[in-house]
Amino acid sequence: MLSLDVPPISAARKRQSTCRILLIEDEDLIRNMIALNLEEEGYKVTKVNNGREALVLLESHSLQNESRKFDMIILDLMLPEINGLDICRLLRHKGNTVPILILSAKSAETDRVLGLEVGADDYLTKPFSMKELVARCRALLRRNSINTFASPNVKQYKDIYLFPDECRVTVRNIPINLSPKEFRLLELFMTYPKRVWDREQLINNIWGDDFLGDTKTVDVHIRWLREKLELDPSHPEYIITVRGFGYRFG
Ligand code: CA
Repeated sequence: MLSLDVPPISAARKRQSTCRILLIEDEDLIRNMIALNLEEEGYKVTKVNNGREALVLLESHSLQNESRKFDMIILDLMLPEINGLDICRLLRHKGNTVPILILSAKSAETDRVLGLEVGADDYLTKPFSMKELVARCRALLRRNSINTFASPNVKQYKDIYLFPDECRVTVRNIPINLSPKEFRLLELFMTYPKRVWDREQLINNIWGDDFLGDTKTVDVHIRWLREKLELDPSHPEYIITVRGFGYRFG
C-alpha cells in the first residue's frame, strides 16, 4: 500500500501550471491519491484506468494541436487489456517523446531495466511516497522544459534532435559530428518532413548557384549522413530514397 506521508492540502501551496499529465493506473485508490496530490501542485490531470482507453486518448490527442497534448505520462505497468510496457514501446515506436514515469509493483532490477529500455524516463516501485512521486514528476517536467525551451527552434524527429542555434545534432541521445553541408542538408530535411526533393533542388538549397560539381555530390552527402544517423544505413529509416525522384526525410 501507499505510505501516508501526504503533505497537507493548503491553498497557499497551489501553483498555477498549464502542465497536463496523463495518469494511467487501474487501482482506484492509487489513481485518485496521485491525481489529488498532483492537482494540489497545480497540474491538470487526466485519469484513465486501462491501457486500451489510454492509447485511444493519446491517438486522438496526437491529431490535435500542441496545446492539447500531454506534458508527461504516469504509467502503471500492470494494466487490463494492454500493459504499460507495450504502451511505452508503442509510443516510442511512433516517435512520441513525451516524458514517461513508470509505476510498478515489481521491484526486480530486470523489470526496472526493462522499463527504461522500452523508453521510459523514470521508474518508481510501489509502494512509494506521494512526496517522491510529485518530486520526480516535477524533475521530469523541468528537464523536459529545459530541453524544449532552451532552443525554441529545435527540430525533432523520432530520436533525432537538431539544435539550429547551437549547430549540433543528437541521435539516440548521442551527439554526432556533421560537416556544415551535412548539417544544412539535415536541417532542410527536418524542416520539411515527408517532402520529396530531387537532386537539383537539394543542390540549389544547400550548395547554391555557384555549385560546380554534379548531382552525384548529393548522393555522396546523403550516404555520409545516413552513416551517421541510421542504425542500418543500407536499410534507412530517416532518409528514404524515392526511386525516380530523389529523397525524402521520414
Ligand atoms: Ca495495476
